[in-house]
Amino acid sequence: MNRVPTRRGELHHTIKNNYIMMKKILIYLFAWLITVPTVKSQIINKVPLSARQTYYNIDANLDILSKIVKGEMETYWVNKSTDIVPDVQLHLYLNAFRNSRTTFNKESGSSPAYNKSDSGWIDIITLTDWDGKDLIPGMQYISPDDGNSDDMTVLKINLPKAANPGDTVFLKINFESKLPSKIIRTGNTDDYYFVAQWFPKFGVYEPAGMRYATKGGWNCHQFHRNSEFYSNHSVYDVKITVPKEYVVGSGGMLMAEVDSDTEGKNKTLTYRAEDIVDFAWTAWPGYAVFTEQWEHVKITLLLPKERIDQVERQFTAVKNALEYLTKNVGPFPWPHLTFVDPPAKGSGAGGMEYTTLFTSTSFTGIPDFLHLPEMVTIHEFGHAYFMGILASNEFEEPWLDEGVNSFWEERIMDHYYGENSGMINHPLLKVADKSMSRLSYINSDSRQAVSNAENSWNYPHGTYGMMSYNKTATWLYTMMGIIGEETTNEVFREYYKKWAFKHPSGKDFVSVVNEVVTRMNGDKFGTDMNWFFDQTLYGTGLCDYKVANFYNNKLNLSRRNINGGDSIDKKLSDGDSLYKSVVELERVGEVMLPVDVLVHFKNGDEVHESWDGKSRFKDFVYTGARMIEWVKIDPEFKIRMDVNYINNSRTSDPDRVPVRRLTDKLISFMQFFINFISL
Ligand SMILES: [Zn+2]
Repeated sequence: MNRVPTRRGELHHTIKNNYIMMKKILIYLFAWLITVPTVKSQIINKVPLSARQTYYNIDANLDILSKIVKGEMETYWVNKSTDIVPDVQLHLYLNAFRNSRTTFNKESGSSPAYNKSDSGWIDIITLTDWDGKDLIPGMQYISPDDGNSDDMTVLKINLPKAANPGDTVFLKINFESKLPSKIIRTGNTDDYYFVAQWFPKFGVYEPAGMRYATKGGWNCHQFHRNSEFYSNHSVYDVKITVPKEYVVGSGGMLMAEVDSDTEGKNKTLTYRAEDIVDFAWTAWPGYAVFTEQWEHVKITLLLPKERIDQVERQFTAVKNALEYLTKNVGPFPWPHLTFVDPPAKGSGAGGMEYTTLFTSTSFTGIPDFLHLPEMVTIHEFGHAYFMGILASNEFEEPWLDEGVNSFWEERIMDHYYGENSGMINHPLLKVADKSMSRLSYINSDSRQAVSNAENSWNYPHGTYGMMSYNKTATWLYTMMGIIGEETTNEVFREYYKKWAFKHPSGKDFVSVVNEVVTRMNGDKFGTDMNWFFDQTLYGTGLCDYKVANFYNNKLNLSRRNINGGDSIDKKLSDGDSLYKSVVELERVGEVMLPVDVLVHFKNGDEVHESWDGKSRFKDFVYTGARMIEWVKIDPEFKIRMDVNYINNSRTSDPDRVPVRRLTDKLISFMQFFINFISL
């Protein structure tokens, strides 16, 4: 039976509607008052560094019995596109540890008998919009990368009303994050906690034209074994409640610390972070805390008390990195930086980056000549630039973060700790950090299996690390060998200036290289450098140049009959023998790069030749009284992609042959050693 509304009923209905409308307005106003001014106001940085498309206000409570972090979160995403967006997508990273069939565990080679006590997860307890409307019915787990229905690391929320351009989507989420007991980047062991990838976090909405997007859509990848990051820069207001004896460090700036109960059992720390792409924290009663200042940056170091002997070298390393990257790339914009050297039981958290928080690795009594802690510290700090400030998509272009960062790590290490001893500086063994990447690349059996332009989870035969870190660093060194150090630094300064806080893609990096190289060098290297990237970044070919042979043939000619040939022939006196000396060079690999050639004569003369490296062979001919003693391709080791340095030189001096054998032996020994310490 239809109910005919009475006037009174209609009136009531209208009042009710008005009341709901008023309530909505008040709620929105309240949300605006508490959230927007907080985000807009500058507490840490003088001006916003980024577009701040997302915001997170999290109240986190660590329960040490259940190993669960209970979180109450208010968050928003702003639709800055011109699209009408019907859903939002969020990462739920901890679900990677939910069962043995998750994509993360499958990629890690986890056995089907996945240990339940090791598992981790994130449960959404409540999910509403700002006026309290339950959004749980619109929740859906999706697996955009592999269709794995056992993977719950990406949550799609279908919005009751699509977000129009300019709209802000507010969410209130209560969640529980169970930390895995085996620390893989994140987790806990005993009383040690490293809490990363722990809260529901927005993916990146890419409108058409952003990076490679041809139409608008969410870029929200599942959690994979390799690679972690692609996020908008955000403001974070995070309250962390832990038992009082715990020492806490985070990527935020500490704003307040208060007792959170009258018995004085727990404390609440309030942190604020601005314009960073991820927020992580750690808690452990055993940390010793040290602080130092570098220019505008207050640096905090947390490490086990028994590792105090490592404090000075750790601070020195991070200051070296700050100095070098500031000078050659751009400023470190935040006034705070925390780094952590986890205890042995938390070593799974070592070597990770969260922009204003990162983790190193060391152990007590590590000798001074082995610069392993420095290497990890400098590498992880460097991510503040390439993952943090530039914030490229590590899922899809891991080389743009890990490879570029490895290149800078190696430059910093060798600059501060010795050009040939950046990694190991022992009287009996010296190893440059830049040698590590090159050796890993040239010695890989699968170095041609795939190009650098691959999604992080698609590298076959265990080539992810070799390709993303090592091959990339090696071709970046090769690029620097060709265009020079100053042009290379200018490339990165321009890349920073143009793309900081804007999520560049690989093609944006290549455009910057092309622009800067031609601005600084005209057409010396062609109209652009695409020929270089096509072969190195996007190609799978090998680079190998060799001296095939050289010889000195005595001529039975008088001086008058010499035509051309040796331009440096001088002081030829009667009775001198004449020689036709020939250098035979070959391009063995597919990659074509310009190479320098040094020809050394027995009388001490030297001739520098340039070869564009394009043809399969190249001969240089000299006629005169002098004989060639040795020939070297690439004498300054600019072309570090060359997979075989041994065939780059050839000598007529028989004494040099044993030296070469010794070098061979030393290289294999170093390779063995490097493989050992890379584990
Ligand atoms: Zn890295």
